[in-house]
Amino acid sequence: KIKTAIGDEYTIDFSKQAAGIVHEIRNPLTAVKGFLQLLIPDLTDINKKQYATIALEELDRANDLIQQFLLESRPSTCMKKSVSVNQLVKQMELMYTSEAILQNISLEVALSTEEPLVYVDENQLKQVITNLLKNAFEAVGSKGMVCISTNVVGNVAFISISDNGSGIDNPTLESLFTPFYTTKPSGTGLGLSISKKIIEDHNGKMTVCSTLGKETTFQLELPLYEENNTQTVKYNAPL
Ligand code: ADP
Ligand code: MG
Repeated sequence: KIKTAIGDEYTIDFSKQAAGIVHEIRNPLTAVKGFLQLLIPDLTDINKKQYATIALEELDRANDLIQQFLLESRPSTCMKKSVSVNQLVKQMELMYTSEAILQNISLEVALSTEEPLVYVDENQLKQVITNLLKNAFEAVGSKGMVCISTNVVGNVAFISISDNGSGIDNPTLESLFTPFYTTKPSGTGLGLSISKKIIEDHNGKMTVCSTLGKETTFQLELPLYEENNTQTVKYNAPL
């Protein structure tokens, strides 16, 4: 609270200002990332290529941190609307096809025959699927298999992302969703905690099922969109 010389008081919401600044930092980061990605294929020196790749990873890390901060602090920039689960999964498939080919990973999609609609912030749900796909790609190495499938049971839509990668041991399973928990040398440990929070903010659930050394499936459950149904929209409280 600030009192001016003429006696009127006003309040500065520092959390809002910080969120605004953090949000603005994203744009230059995105530009830097884009240019780095353009440069990398032309780098013939193996060392330079490695430096640039590390720089890219670190940018991803900064982006994860920003994402986490914004999720914690913003009151609501949540834009929910009815979204077709199958359409969204098809878009994600398209986005990841080239990466799958590059890494020699077979990316498969199995869509439900129904066309489930969910009431979500599309960008946030894309972010969740991106995080799960990234983890799956990192777990399988090359010649692996990653599958995205959709399903409907009752009034719930399911999206599963499975991989035939390393699987997850019990201690890791217990800590997966804890912010900053990672078993990767340059991981952030934020992907799953952010994703779980997003899904829960959409009145959904996120579960994991894994067999060590064999496979892992992350499953998202989201309530189906029902027209004329005033759905409860949950927002993060401001700091
Ligand atoms: P990060 O990927 O930065 O480590 P995440 O929150 O995305 O952070 O994941 C946390 C941890 O969960 C990972 O470090 C890894 O140990 C484990 N994990 C997540 N997804 C998978 C998967 N598909 N297969 C095996 N382990 C996984
Ligand atoms: Mg991750």
